[in-house]
Amino acid sequence: MAHRAGFCFGVKRAVDTAFLVAKTADGVFTLGPIIHNPQLVSALRENGVCVADSIAELKQKKAGKVIVRTHGVTQEEMRMLEQEGFNVEDLTCPYVKKAQHYAKLLREEGYQVVILGDIEHPEVKGLKSYAGQEAIVVRHPDELPRMKSKVGLVVQTTQPVEALIRLISAIAGQARELKVYNTICSSTALRLKETMELASQVEVMVVVGGRNSANTTQLTRLCEKSVPTYHIETAGELREEWFRGIKKAGITAGASTPDWIIKETEKVLRAIGGSE
Ligand code: SF4
Repeated sequence: MAHRAGFCFGVKRAVDTAFLVAKTADGVFTLGPIIHNPQLVSALRENGVCVADSIAELKQKKAGKVIVRTHGVTQEEMRMLEQEGFNVEDLTCPYVKKAQHYAKLLREEGYQVVILGDIEHPEVKGLKSYAGQEAIVVRHPDELPRMKSKVGLVVQTTQPVEALIRLISAIAGQARELKVYNTICSSTALRLKETMELASQVEVMVVVGGRNSANTTQLTRLCEKSVPTYHIETAGELREEWFRGIKKAGITAGASTPDWIIKETEKVLRAIGGSE
């Protein structure tokens, strides 16, 4: 079992607070799913925390309390929530807030802002809103357009450090001045490192987490480089045939995977292996 499998600090803080808020307020909504894990989102729904996909939906459903999730929202969305007078519980992870702050700072200081990340990810949409409309989002140096002479770089918190190193070296070849804020969260970096080590010591890896979770998918891709790897959302998806002739299997999980799902996976896997 990877030491750091499951909730990171930011997700734990957000999920614990959401369950607490559900006990004290009515009409609680998250703007978008609180984290990328369908099982946790259903558990919250059962406790009275529903999901709204837009501010218009929040208005229509007369939300009593609005939770901003760990990925954060765009600057415009935050402004609108305040203007509309919603009671907001901002659970944006402090690491994401820091990245938003640096994105804004780079824009104000006149840098051409480059964001390393996935353009479709809500965290990156938020970062871009702070970095300004001219900001460029790339995942790989090949996607870079011609750079200006003064370039500033921020990173989606869950990107691997290797991707940052590749991008820095590509931009350094063009820009006269390059300012880099390494906003990769330490929890992500350590989780990736530990997972790589574990995958090198076992014959098969099981990665537990939402199929829509970027960091779980990233863990899967990483493990696949070393051993056969299975990405599951729940223990019910484990198949005996995956482990025939296998003596040592490893388990890791994304930052948004609840502990109860990881424990259940371990239990089922041990039962398949015939050990306690
Ligand atoms: S992975 Fe890092 S940045 Fe993302 S919520 Fe967790 S602690 Fe925050």
